[in-house]
Amino acid sequence: MAEPDPWFMTRRLREGVWLVAEPWHVYCFLVVGTERAVLIDTGTGIADISAPVRRITGLPVLVVNTHAHDDHRGGNVFFDEVAAHPVAVERLALAVPADRVGAYLTVATEQLAAYETTRALDDRYFHLFTAETRPRPLPPGVHPATAAPIASGPAARPLADGDVIDLGGRALRVLHSPGHSPDSLCLFDERDGLLFVGDTLITGDFWAHTDDTDLEAFVTSLRRLDGELAGQVARVMPAHTRSCEAGPHLLRDAADAIEATRAGHVGEPGVDLYGRPVLRHRFAEFNILRPAA
Ligand SMILES: [Zn+2]
Repeated sequence: MAEPDPWFMTRRLREGVWLVAEPWHVYCFLVVGTERAVLIDTGTGIADISAPVRRITGLPVLVVNTHAHDDHRGGNVFFDEVAAHPVAVERLALAVPADRVGAYLTVATEQLAAYETTRALDDRYFHLFTAETRPRPLPPGVHPATAAPIASGPAARPLADGDVIDLGGRALRVLHSPGHSPDSLCLFDERDGLLFVGDTLITGDFWAHTDDTDLEAFVTSLRRLDGELAGQVARVMPAHTRSCEAGPHLLRDAADAIEATRAGHVGEPGVDLYGRPVLRHRFAEFNILRPAA
C-alpha cells in the first residue's frame, strides 16, 4: 500500500503521544489531549506536515517551536497558532531564505545517496535501517537547484518560563533552556514524565559550534533541568539523529561532557553535516561539536 505522506514517518509512542518524523532530518512530536493538541516543532517545511498531523487528530493544534532554527519551524506556515520563546518570536517572523533551503536540500540529497551506497552492506551486516528509519527521497518537485524560500507562519505568541499549556487531561510545562541557542525551550509532560528537549539534548552530534551556542548557559540549563525535574523524568525526547528517546541520565552526562570540553577534553578534527571543519569531542552516547581552532 502506498504511504499517504512518504516523506514522513509517524508512530504512536504512548497514549496521546505521537512521533511525526522526517527520518534522518528531524523528530517532531504531537501530544494530544481531550481539548487540543500541541505539535512540538514543525520540521524542515519541505513537505506539508499538517497532512500526517491531521490524520492523527482533528482537534485544534497549537505549534510550539523548541527554537527558531530552520529545521524546527519550516512547517509553521501550515498551522494557525504558534508559540515560542520570546527571543524566537522575531526570528520566526522571517522566511527561511532560498539559499539556506537549497543548502539543506543539497545535504539531504547527499545523505540519501550515502544511504543508497550503504544499503547493501547494512542489509548484510548491520541491520541499522528499517522501513521506518530509512532516509526518504525528497518529495516530488523539491530539488536543491530550484529551492524556494520557506514562508514564515503566523506570528508566534511568547511563552514564559513556567507557563503551563493545558491540553485537556494532560499539560505541558514550559522550561526555558538557553544554550544550544538563546531561544531554546523544553516542554515537560508531567503525566508520562516526558521531557521534549528540541536540540538541548542529542544522541548523535551535539551542535555546539555555531554562533548561537553559549556553553556556560548550556551547562546552567542542563543542570537546572536535572535538578528541578529530578526523579520526574522517565524519558527525554530529542529532535535529531539516532533515537527520538533517551534516558534522563543524558541531562547530567551532557552537562558533564560540555564542562569537560572546556577543561581540556581533546576533540578530533572532523566536519559537520554541511562539511564545515569542527572538533568532534566523543563521549559514550553522543559527540559534542566545537569550532575548529
Ligand atoms: Zn537547533
